[in-house]
Amino acid sequence: MKTKLQTIATDDGDSNFSAQSKPRILVVDDQATNIQVLYQILAADYQVLMATSGAQALNLCLSKKPDLVLLDLIMPEMDGYQICQHLKADVTTRDIPIIFITAQNDETAEERGFDLGAVDFISKPVNPRIVRARVKTHLMLKAQSDLLRSWAYLDGLTGVHNRRFFDERIIAEMGRASRNQSALSVVMIDVDFFKRYNDHYGHQTGDDCLRRVATTLKSHLLRSGDHVARYGGEEFVCLLPDTGFAGAMQLATSIRKKIMALQIAHAGSSVAPYVTVSLGVGSKPENVQADARALISLADAQLYKAKETGRHRIVGAELNFEPLPEVSNKMRKSKTS
Ligand code: GH3
Ligand code: MG
Ligand code: MG
Repeated sequence: MKTKLQTIATDDGDSNFSAQSKPRILVVDDQATNIQVLYQILAADYQVLMATSGAQALNLCLSKKPDLVLLDLIMPEMDGYQICQHLKADVTTRDIPIIFITAQNDETAEERGFDLGAVDFISKPVNPRIVRARVKTHLMLKAQSDLLRSWAYLDGLTGVHNRRFFDERIIAEMGRASRNQSALSVVMIDVDFFKRYNDHYGHQTGDDCLRRVATTLKSHLLRSGDHVARYGGEEFVCLLPDTGFAGAMQLATSIRKKIMALQIAHAGSSVAPYVTVSLGVGSKPENVQADARALISLADAQLYKAKETGRHRIVGAELNFEPLPEVSNKMRKSKTS
């Protein structure tokens, strides 16, 4: 008879730094004895998370972001292939390497696993030295690819995320917001009269200014799911999951004040003696279905209005309740502050 195991996370929170720095491995198997065997092999070197069902495994992958998954192939309800497919379909979990652990010595099963994106197979009964060696290899490869990926998603000048990161992330966040019926907001931020700033102070001082603006934006994002990216040139964007219109406007208001308070002298500005920004806010309310492009267009259109109506201000709008084909039809009356 199969024994059901509770999901156990052996990491003990932020207080234990040495445990935190160990790579995290999720072992998924519907049989407690199999999990125990792998736990014994790995626990000395790694944080071991355990799940006995597909649902538990997917939840742990989302919440704990393991560095590697050891996945039993044959399980009731959701099998290993299905779990693998789910993980590979979600941008936030697709890069976690998966090693299938299976009793089957079946080439067809292995081929199918590799086709679905698994990195390796280990057959049961497991050999401890082989498990340790393969786990070590795949964790090393994961660490290297994580590093490369983090560089590929960073803006070289300012150190915040780049456009590529934002473009991918907003699609994932919009998918999640639509599924969970949660709010999602975007704040577009553009430095006012920046061409004149460069012309007056020189390009290098212009670069310094962009770095200071980026750092200030970053310091404003308090939730772990919030992100700031450089959208292009002197334009930045904040992506705010679970944030509705009022919250996004509040953040935009605070950003506008904070940039002004930096008091970066701007002799060429027609609106203030200091560097200022214009902001466009776009929000998807909880119960509205939308796609990422509609939200970006909405925020962009509000930024355009902020520029047109004098700069150094915020204009925001929410997506409408009716999912209409034209973005322009989706805009509510813009609100300026
Ligand atoms: P507006 O208030 O309408 O936004 O006017 P603006 O001058 O800020 O806008 P415009 O798009 O005309 O000019 C943007 C300027 O930003 C021009 C470009 O030289 C400068 N810029 C873009 N990227 C960089 C960068 O990486 N470093 C520096 N120093 N300047 C940049
Ligand atoms: Mg500008
Ligand atoms: Mg611009």
